[in-house]
Amino acid sequence: AVNRKFHPDDTVVDVDGAKIGGQNFSVIAGPCSVESEEQMICIAKAVKKSGAKLLRGGAFKPRTSPYSFQGLHDEGIRLLLEAKKETGLPIVTEIMSLTHIDLFADVDVIQVGARNMQNFELLKELGKCDKPILLKRGLANTMDELLMSAEYIMAGGNSNVILCERGIRTFETATRNTLDISAVPLLKEKSHLPVIVDPSHAAGIANLVEPLSKAAVSVGADGLMIEVHNNPPKALCDGDQSLTPVQFDHVMEKVKMLAAFENRI
Ligand code: PEP
Ligand code: MN
Repeated sequence: AVNRKFHPDDTVVDVDGAKIGGQNFSVIAGPCSVESEEQMICIAKAVKKSGAKLLRGGAFKPRTSPYSFQGLHDEGIRLLLEAKKETGLPIVTEIMSLTHIDLFADVDVIQVGARNMQNFELLKELGKCDKPILLKRGLANTMDELLMSAEYIMAGGNSNVILCERGIRTFETATRNTLDISAVPLLKEKSHLPVIVDPSHAAGIANLVEPLSKAAVSVGADGLMIEVHNNPPKALCDGDQSLTPVQFDHVMEKVKMLAAFENRI
């Protein structure tokens, strides 16, 4: 069960040696979408050098418009695995349909995106697999609904769930979403599961990624997921919120200092 009452100690999710939860502080970084081999290898090497412990990249993209770039699908997963081979970084990528599950056999962490947080049949099926699941909070879902979705996965026998606060819909239009910073300490109080923050999708603006990342570390987040692109203006998805590798390196410097101050490793 997700409730801390039944499990007082923090759950630590071990992804091929990269630990998320407990005293660990781990950053997942990479492009919104996998676009090409050169792009993936370049970004993977850069984020590793800056201290990221996992590599992200979307192969199946949940786009608002059917005419927007939908991802490279199986080829995208192949390129992520190439980047893993090159850098050793475990990979995180989003699943959109149960029909694709076989393509995820070598993926290290399966992401359930905000739009599928309450796709209960998908959650039940992921509960039967032995891979860590990164569960993102829905655009308009409460913390308790997020925890119940995690419960769906755990009820099937999979206890490796990482929660992700990625901003929620509010009346405010200045940012893409509103980062619900209170969600971090509250979710950690209610549950033993690790909680990470995605400042990129919360803000929708690259310049806000650093301040929101610092806030996340300060309220006790177990990690961050940050979008990084080698050429943000040319990105096929989410360029406005993507950091260049140099910008990411600066954010990591600050974040690592704050995490060390909080005795996180
Ligand atoms: C993503 O992480 O690529 C993504 C689509 O995020 P979200 O589901 O939070 O919108
Ligand atoms: Mn994105």
